[in-house]
Amino acid sequence: MSAVNDVSATTAGLLAPYAAHDGESRGRRYPESPPQFRSEFQRDRDRIIHSNAFRRLVYKTQVFVNHEGDLYRTRVTHSIEVAQIARSVALALRLNEALTEAISLAHDLGHTPFGHAGQDALNECLREYGGFEHNLQSLRVVDELEERYAEFRGLNLTFECREGILKHCSLRHARALGELGERFIMRRQPGLEAQIANLADEIAYNNHDVDDGIRAQLLDLAALREVRIFRRQHDAVVAQYPQLGERRLVHETIRRMINHLVVDFIHTTQTQLERAQPRSIDEVRALTAPLAMLSDACREEHLELKAFLREQVYRHYKVLRMTSKARRVVEQLFEAFFKDVSLMPREHRDQAVQAETQHGAAGRARAVADYIAGMTDRYAILEHRRLFEPAERT
Ligand code: MG
Repeated sequence: MSAVNDVSATTAGLLAPYAAHDGESRGRRYPESPPQFRSEFQRDRDRIIHSNAFRRLVYKTQVFVNHEGDLYRTRVTHSIEVAQIARSVALALRLNEALTEAISLAHDLGHTPFGHAGQDALNECLREYGGFEHNLQSLRVVDELEERYAEFRGLNLTFECREGILKHCSLRHARALGELGERFIMRRQPGLEAQIANLADEIAYNNHDVDDGIRAQLLDLAALREVRIFRRQHDAVVAQYPQLGERRLVHETIRRMINHLVVDFIHTTQTQLERAQPRSIDEVRALTAPLAMLSDACREEHLELKAFLREQVYRHYKVLRMTSKARRVVEQLFEAFFKDVSLMPREHRDQAVQAETQHGAAGRARAVADYIAGMTDRYAILEHRRLFEPAERT
């Protein structure tokens, strides 16, 4: 711990022994002198906020395409909601709040346009060339693709932050990742800050998709009342406020669902921590199962809501029409650019040519995928028009 670093010195005393501590960080890929007036993990968070990829999340969506309305979640508001939930849990458990926030804000940086439809399509396009995994792409964004610093490529984040960003990874890719990939091979865990960001992600999207689903009129209250976790909170709100208008009724119900899950999350994880008694982040990592979790009862209800949303929202014909269009846009963009890299803007074309010299067709495919994955929804639609609509300006 640096004596200069006042901020982390004051916060370190409040952190639990199993939290990520600045002084015990496994460090950055390129060594840097310690930051002044902020901790290592605050620096990670600040770099993420200043990145291009973070700003692009404004125009990337998960379920509802951006132009359908201004009130729907985008990836940036989703990431902020994840960070809010994760930070509450981290503070209650005396974990490193700044690291938790950094991981939460960065967790979706590698997402393609059009949410999972885009990612599935790109994965299919790259099937012969190593596939496309959005978690791996998030890591690639912070390690390689961001160009902001004179001294290194990427954002040069701490090991702890990179470990959290890489939520999932296939074994094949894990082997190529060295220290960062080890836990997937050994079936070990990341630090608690990463575990918390991961579960906060699920809590956030489950609940905001209820809200967005109602707004898009894909869901109604009668159907939602078949889901236990919703019905219980809805009943309680109606009993307490029988005259409440529908909008406030829905929002109050969702607010209570989130609160119920977060409180359960903290209590259950606290109990797990008391049982396991980890004395350091490395002892957390050495465990075979995560410590951050919901109680069995809560987990079951949470999964029930997730299954309900899959059926009622993600497989709604209006959403499926949108995702089928999105897949086509991504597939056709890939096909056109892969066939002729000179159709891409110069910088991306140059990267593709260079990557091809080094890694053959797989290199070319990766460079095309980087270009497409970086696109916002509307930019992808515009590029598609420019390529395929004869009357569109190029
Ligand atoms: Mg997410």
